[in-house]
Amino acid sequence: MDLFEYQARDLFAKHGVPVLAGEVIDTPEAAREITERLGGKSVVKAQVKVGGRGKAGGVKLAATPDEAVARATDILGMDIKGHTVHKVMLAETAPEILEEYYVSFLLDRANRTFLSIASVEGGMEIEEVAATRPEAVAKIAVDAIDGVDKAKAQEIVAAAKFPAEVADKVADVLVSLWEVFIKEDALLVEVNPLAKVASGDVIALDGKVSLDENAEFRHPEFEELHDKAAANPLEAAAKEKNLNYVKLDGEVGIIGNGAGLVMSTLDVVAYAGENHKGVKPANFLDIGGGASAEVMANGLEIILGDPDVKSVFVNVFGGITACDAVANGIVQALELLESKGEEVTKPLVVRLDGNNAELGRQILDDRNHPLVQRVDTMDGAADKAAELAAAAK
Ligand code: GDP
Ligand code: MN
Repeated sequence: MDLFEYQARDLFAKHGVPVLAGEVIDTPEAAREITERLGGKSVVKAQVKVGGRGKAGGVKLAATPDEAVARATDILGMDIKGHTVHKVMLAETAPEILEEYYVSFLLDRANRTFLSIASVEGGMEIEEVAATRPEAVAKIAVDAIDGVDKAKAQEIVAAAKFPAEVADKVADVLVSLWEVFIKEDALLVEVNPLAKVASGDVIALDGKVSLDENAEFRHPEFEELHDKAAANPLEAAAKEKNLNYVKLDGEVGIIGNGAGLVMSTLDVVAYAGENHKGVKPANFLDIGGGASAEVMANGLEIILGDPDVKSVFVNVFGGITACDAVANGIVQALELLESKGEEVTKPLVVRLDGNNAELGRQILDDRNHPLVQRVDTMDGAADKAAELAAAAK
C-alpha cells in the first residue's frame, strides 16, 4: 500500500526523521489560515501517489497567505499523470536549499535482502541519474537481522560519498529512516530530496512509503491509511467481506476457489473469448477454501453488482470443501440474493470437479435453476460463459 506524502511525513516525524511542519487540506480557502500559522509563507504540494509532481507543476511556493490560496486553487483538481489532485499539503517553507540528496531502504526481492540506495545527486531526476551515471548511486545490502545501526549508516554514507560536513547528520537520518522501515513494516521508504539547508541541517522534504499489507494484522492503524476515495467500490465491498477480488475490464464474471485455479480460469476464458466477440474476464475472485453458501452469496453479490458482467463462470475444484457443499452454497446463495430482493438475471455457468463432483452436479440438476447451466469441463464451461456474455453484449 503506497502512502501519500503527508502520511509518509507523519511516519517520518514519529520516528525522528527531520521534516517540516505541514497540514493537508481539500479546499483552497483553508490555505490562508494555515499559511498564516506557518509564518506567512508555504509550499503548496499536490498529494497524489505518483512521482514528478514538481515537474508537473504540482509543487509551488507561496510567498503570502493569499498566494497560497491561489496556488491551492490551481493545484486542486489538477491531473498529474492520470491522478486527480484531491488534497494538497501546505508545508513550512524550507530554509534556503543548498543541496538535494536521495536515500531509501527497500526490499530487494531479486537478491533476497534489504537494500539501501543513496546518492548525493538527489532531487527531481534520480531515475535519470541511476540510468546515466550509475556510479553516482550507492547500493548497499542491509542484513535483515543486523539492520542499520550508526556504523552501518556510516558505511552507506561513505559509499555514497556524502560531504564530510553532513555525513554525521545523514547517518542519523538513515538510522531513523531504518526504524520507520522496520517498525512500520514498510517495503519501501524513500526520501527525495533529503535537503541540506543553509543552517547546515538536513531535512526530508519529500517522502514515499509503501507499507506491507501482509503486516496489517499487527497494525490496526493501517486501516486509516487506505485511500477510500480511490478504491473501486466493488473492491472495497469485497475487502470488507474478506474476499480476494480484483476488477478487470471484460464481461465474464469469474468465481473460483484457490488463486491458482482462478488465474488459469482467467486465461481459459480470455482464450475462449477469442471465438466470442473478444469477450474477456470481468474480474478475479477467489472465494478460498471454504466455499459456504454465505461466502458464495457474498461473491455472487459482488460480481452481479458489476454492470459490466454479462455472464458468470463459477469454477470449483472440490478438495477439502466437497462439491456438494459448494453446489448447496450456489443454490442457497441464489435464494439468499432473491430473498433480499436482488434480481438475478445474468446466466451462471457452473463447473464442478474433484471431491464429490457427482453429488454436487446432482444437486444443481435437482434444483434446475433457470439461470444456472452445468458444464463439466473447464474449457467447455469457459466457452459457454464466453458465448453467453457475447450474446448479451
Ligand atoms: P516530486 O517532484 O513529486 O518528487 O516532489 P518533491 O516534493 O520532491 O518536490 C520537488 C522539488 O520541489 C524538490 O526537489 C525541491 O527542490 C522543491 N521543494 C519541495 N519542498 C520544498 C520546500 O519546502 N521549499 C522549497 N524551496 N522547495 C521545495
Ligand atoms: Mn521528490
